[in-house]
Amino acid sequence: MTVLTAARPLDALADFPAIPAGWAYLDTAATAQKPQAVIDAIARGYDSAYATVHRGVYQRSADMTLAYEAARRRVAEFIGAAAPEECVFVRGATEGINLVAQSWAATNLRPGDRIMLSLLEHHSNIVPWQMVAERTGAVIDVAPLTSDHAIDLDAMAAMLTPQHKLVALAHVSNVTGAILDARRAADLAHGVGAKLLLDGCQAVPRLTVDVAALGCDFYVFSGHKLYGPTGIGVLWARGELLAAMPPWQGGGAMIDKVSFAGTSYAPPPARFEAGTPHIVGALGLHAAIDYVEAIGLDAIHAHESALVAAAREALSGFNSVTLYGPENSAGIVSFAIEGVHPHDIGTILDEAKVAIRAGHHCAQPLMDALGIPATARASFGVYNGPADVEALARGIERVTRIFG
Ligand code: PMP
Repeated sequence: MTVLTAARPLDALADFPAIPAGWAYLDTAATAQKPQAVIDAIARGYDSAYATVHRGVYQRSADMTLAYEAARRRVAEFIGAAAPEECVFVRGATEGINLVAQSWAATNLRPGDRIMLSLLEHHSNIVPWQMVAERTGAVIDVAPLTSDHAIDLDAMAAMLTPQHKLVALAHVSNVTGAILDARRAADLAHGVGAKLLLDGCQAVPRLTVDVAALGCDFYVFSGHKLYGPTGIGVLWARGELLAAMPPWQGGGAMIDKVSFAGTSYAPPPARFEAGTPHIVGALGLHAAIDYVEAIGLDAIHAHESALVAAAREALSGFNSVTLYGPENSAGIVSFAIEGVHPHDIGTILDEAKVAIRAGHHCAQPLMDALGIPATARASFGVYNGPADVEALARGIERVTRIFG
């Protein structure tokens, strides 16, 4: 069995109380475990600090408002936004994409306009566009993949036309781990006058993200994949785009003045945050960003890349294993074993205390293109180390023995 030699251990495991000794948690691409610092921030938020935001005239509420807005500033700094007001708190990437679809796209797309997606998109970066295409008469195109299951930007370049108003792509694929050349994607999109939305769900926990350097127009991510809480995520959009977008949900907190004669709306980001927000979620996200930045995204990427290299090497030692995705995938290894359903792989690995994901990973068009119903997927985080790769390889050895 291959033994990992190249990883630079981060020694972060001790920060995660929910990972017992001997459990190889390899499902971070679905959701990350939480460090104590995040758990503490959430507990403090609901303990002595708890109050609503934006409305209270009493001190506790004013303090909580400051903390909530400090979280927004932290997000802005983390992703290189020009201003905190460009960062809208949403429930997660799914809600962020739906917001852009129902607000920006629904008002900007005309019959015959085109939206460019790719074959490897998560359903949350497909279905909202299908819904808005149906509503507006826009048409969806799908960029193909390279032989190692990354988005084929050469092919996409040849498909783009002035009718394309939006290109929406995963920054990092949740199935193949392929990293998009986002800068090139932005140049291609802008070359035909289209906007670029990046789904940063899998990128933000693994790569340094600077939206200004990437050159995109919209960027979305979920807090829970970044070691933060569920129910909180971020939509970033260029200030001038957000300023021109109509609200998509009405209610408290998003208004300027309400009367039965008519209502005027608050400027962004409040215009897009109707109702009482996930206040403590924002505080947890703030703590999660502090946590990953203290380690450093470059160190996290190097660590996960070494684990991916070791896992790919170990798995390629089994004749019956097919690996998907590029060699340099970011923290994610998808694979199949001939004659074994991925769910059986997952169940046998679970008996060996190795937690992986098995399924279509909310990417059914990609599974169809690969000609398989599902894959097994091991994905890494800051808490993983060489022992987890070895446990995975031992588990796969057992699977191949059982299925002979
Ligand atoms: N896009 C990608 C690439 C993802 O991996 C996920 C989560 N699996 C999503 C979007 C949706 O994220 P959420 O369910 O947190 O909204």
